[in-house]
Amino acid sequence: MTQPPAPHAGGAQTAARRNREGYTIRQLAFYGKGGIGKSTTAANVSAALAELGHRVMQVGCDPKHDSTRNLVNGRWLPTILDVMRRTDAPAIRLDDVAFAGYRGVMCLEVGGPEPGIGCGGRGIIAAIELLEDMGAFTQLDPGFVIYDVLGDVVCGGFAMPLREGYAEETYIVTSGELMALYAANNICRGIKRFSGRSRTRLAGIIGNGRRVQGEEAVVGEFASRIGSHLMMYLPQDDVVRSSELKGQTVVQHAPDSPQAARYRLLAERIVANQRFVVPEPAGLEELVSLVERASAAAAG
Ligand code: ADP
Ligand code: MG
Repeated sequence: MTQPPAPHAGGAQTAARRNREGYTIRQLAFYGKGGIGKSTTAANVSAALAELGHRVMQVGCDPKHDSTRNLVNGRWLPTILDVMRRTDAPAIRLDDVAFAGYRGVMCLEVGGPEPGIGCGGRGIIAAIELLEDMGAFTQLDPGFVIYDVLGDVVCGGFAMPLREGYAEETYIVTSGELMALYAANNICRGIKRFSGRSRTRLAGIIGNGRRVQGEEAVVGEFASRIGSHLMMYLPQDDVVRSSELKGQTVVQHAPDSPQAARYRLLAERIVANQRFVVPEPAGLEELVSLVERASAAAAG
């Protein structure tokens, strides 16, 4: 079912995780600015991968803990950190934190600290260590793990999936807005910084539309500027909102819609993708002029 291990660019020091058949588990991270569409995209890709016959595990790493909601009919799952607060580690069972969603996608939410207390990033470290200790990866035996991670890597904890090399493939979700590109560029800095000691590479840029003029061109230019490529441009589409209101992914709720077809195509491109690079981040002025140039071109 799962693809054979993809070749890496080198410098890999963290051991790859393998599933029961001995294949490398493909561990993906979706990074991007808050509210940009990481969870929506991740859940739809998970659903599409599951439809292709892959075993998928999605781990929400955002205190908002809504990453997997549309895979479990809009339910709010108990978070790993909540369960850890209530129960002593040895007594925690995998069933307490992992829930089967659409087409068997295993859904997990790390959760976060009480607002204003503690560090959300540190929670990710504790939660993933717990999953390791419980043997979650061998028991659930996924072909793909998707970590859906908040933020633009200003805080070390949220960089954990990158730093420890858990997520060998990082996809950055961005619109053509300057602030989203600024966050994307910061994530590139993080990937570059950790590239010597971890297997983490930038695997591609996913454009998620905000109806910015010339947006696809802006995002495409950004992708090539940093040495990567545009995996897919997903336009803004009302079907995303109407599916969300039903607690479902677009892939499940509107399987024949053009947007569902786009998510499926993105999933297929991810399966086939082998372009993993150490990105070359841009300067701030360079980012600004890239956005200005592309929107001027779009305006004609
Ligand atoms: P993040 O996980 O990055 O914080 P979400 O995936 O929760 O962002 O998306 C934020 C909001 O934007 C959600 O309400 C979602 O329905 C909406 N959204 C995301 N992508 C699209 C899209 N392509 N078209 C329309 N709405 C979208
Ligand atoms: Mg989210």
